[in-house]
Amino acid sequence: MDASLNPALAEARFCPRCGRSAEVSFPQRIACRHCGYAAYFNPKPVAAAIPLDGGGRVILLRRGFDPGRGLWTFPGGFVDLGESVEAAARRETDEELGIAIELGPLVGVYSRADERVVLIVYRGLAVEEPRTTPEAVEVRSFAPSEIPWGELAFWSTELALRDALSA
Ligand SMILES: [Zn+2]
Repeated sequence: MDASLNPALAEARFCPRCGRSAEVSFPQRIACRHCGYAAYFNPKPVAAAIPLDGGGRVILLRRGFDPGRGLWTFPGGFVDLGESVEAAARRETDEELGIAIELGPLVGVYSRADERVVLIVYRGLAVEEPRTTPEAVEVRSFAPSEIPWGELAFWSTELALRDALSA
């Protein structure tokens, strides 16, 4: 198994509670037969929004960081503990594009066994003018016929955009 599927467990050998050697079932589980400690790892939810402007154009950003640096996608990021998926989609859009959005319906959920994240994508309506940020080095609105299909960051970016535009 690829270590990147669970970096938090890739180097783990010892129980975080009692410090003795633990049983690691990579990438899913660490358990300790000495003290009974056990922790389970699951795919991490990533919340995203596909913001549309008032003219029905899709607002995309060119990523400033890896993975996918230089390629186009929509805003998204990890859901924090203590936060809802919807709130995370709004927060990430604000952090990456500097705009509030009205969150629309769910576009889809994108998951693969070889990925450590589950992407949850909503449609959104931009109520402000987006701007560039360190995470979004270029921001553009694309008519559906102008989407840069050959320069998208992730497999899930393409699937979600196709689903959003066919809805
Ligand atoms: Zn232990």
